Amino acid sequence: MSTGGDMDVTCGCGHHFDAWLWQSANVTTNPELKTSILNGEINMVKCPSCGSKFHVEVPFLYHDMSGKEWIWVYPLGHEKETAAIHAKVGEMWDRLTGSMPPDLRESLEREYKVLVLFGMDALVGRLRSKSSK
Ligand SMILES: [Zn+2]
Repeated sequence: MSTGGDMDVTCGCGHHFDAWLWQSANVTTNPELKTSILNGEINMVKCPSCGSKFHVEVPFLYHDMSGKEWIWVYPLGHEKETAAIHAKVGEMWDRLTGSMPPDLRESLEREYKVLVLFGMDALVGRLRSKSSK
């Protein structure tokens, strides 16, 4: 499942507006979201006042069920909170797998890559390097 919502965004010009931001993308069920990530269009907003376009970085979950990757992308600048973020992501993963039957849980834990990246560019770089191989 992919999720998102309207959020209050502030432009460099000082204008506030609501924009739809993705908070998670299941690229197996929504492959078009993977395309927007690769094109740098995900969470790109346009200010209705001055017309400038910019990225809004929010904690974002990239889930690829066929590639078995569960990647949290945190905004750049949050690197100093790495330990806390890893702990939180670990907790979310445990909560997710904790509701599953033990054998399924075991195979998920064996097969899935659970990662934390900083900045959407890091995710794009990772996806590009994988697809070119
Ligand atoms: Zn503006």
